[in-house]
Amino acid sequence: MAYEVLARKWRPKHFEDVVGQEHVTRTLKNAIETGRVAHAYLFIGPRGIGKTSLARIFAKALNCEKGPTPVPCCECSMCREIAAGNALDVLEIDGASNNGVDQVRDLRDQVQFAPTRGSFKIIIIDEVHMLSTAAFNALLKTLEEPPPHVKFIFATTEGDKVLPTIISRCQRFDLRRIQTPLIVERLRHICGAEHITIDDDALLAVARGAEGGMRDALSALDQLISFKGDLLTEDDVLAVFGLVSRKSLETLAAAVLTGNMGEILRLVDMFDSAGKDMRRLTVELMEHFRNLLIYQYVGENMANLDATPEQIRALAAQAALADSTRVLQIADQLGEMEGRLRYALSVRTLIEMSLIRCARVARSVSLDEVLRRLNAIRTAEPPAATAAPVPAAKPAATNLYDDPALKHVMQMFDGKVVGVEDGND
Ligand SMILES: [Zn+2]
Repeated sequence: MAYEVLARKWRPKHFEDVVGQEHVTRTLKNAIETGRVAHAYLFIGPRGIGKTSLARIFAKALNCEKGPTPVPCCECSMCREIAAGNALDVLEIDGASNNGVDQVRDLRDQVQFAPTRGSFKIIIIDEVHMLSTAAFNALLKTLEEPPPHVKFIFATTEGDKVLPTIISRCQRFDLRRIQTPLIVERLRHICGAEHITIDDDALLAVARGAEGGMRDALSALDQLISFKGDLLTEDDVLAVFGLVSRKSLETLAAAVLTGNMGEILRLVDMFDSAGKDMRRLTVELMEHFRNLLIYQYVGENMANLDATPEQIRALAAQAALADSTRVLQIADQLGEMEGRLRYALSVRTLIEMSLIRCARVARSVSLDEVLRRLNAIRTAEPPAATAAPVPAAKPAATNLYDDPALKHVMQMFDGKVVGVEDGND
């Protein structure tokens, strides 16, 4: 039997198999159960997250011989034909290659006929934003008053390129980028079934490389299996994708948070010499600090914390290294660096300089802290103790910087307060 790539073999068959899009699957299942299926749906979202799979599952659910049902049997001839893409009543069109007005007119003629075997005639148009304006307009007429046996399902990666007149006639669903832990779980399940031995950090590295797309994750896994066989380690994955290991990334973040310049420069040198993808490193570092910030504000129970249990343990340890104001400043710095990366003549130099700036932010003393320490000194040493002719109950200085006690603290911190301003530049 011919080898079937994992992305095809493990393409979701039921609504439950579609990972990370519960907000869509629940609504679609309810619509079928309550008999309130709209005549047109639009799925918007990045590539490889399950839009076309969802469209096919929905088509099966509507046309299954035991349906319409939220749980299509996947065994009847209708279900099997839809899965194979050759059902007569389900027309699947790629908007990128059939984008002309003639194709849409063809389609318009075809939908006038009743379905041959199923309950509905279902038109799936993938990459619908690629249709020409004339084709869009030809489609609009059918979409306005479709025959009762016709259902449209559109999918697109670029929702803002679809005409508003089309969008307003559809039920619109925005599909999300799949969170890393969910991809890891799915990969773990698939590797188990495929008898592939792979450790947790390697699974995480595949998911990291896929950037929220399940299809990319499975294609990557396929590539790795061809390269290394059925025993995969984190190093194998990192070597193929030019990624930095989870532990190294966390060590670099810790070096930034503790202001350890030597360690920062050593790590950047190590990554650069090993040929790691430095742009990707920046993005992942930003994601790390984003997660750290979320962890600091709301803890680990927050659903939008895109991290596995191992990553959360590292976040917990690092949360105490710097307050959220500084973490936010570091994230800002990294964001600015990311914007400058594409114009940089030397990516490595830019990263080194930016990380040193980040580390200076981490080490600098914030005004809040100065004031806090100032208050602490005030309570510890009441002005009366100096026995000077200063009024015992001193009113607060009108100008903060005229306050002699604050000046005293400023002198104590000496150059470090100036460092704050530099860090913010
Ligand atoms: Zn069926």
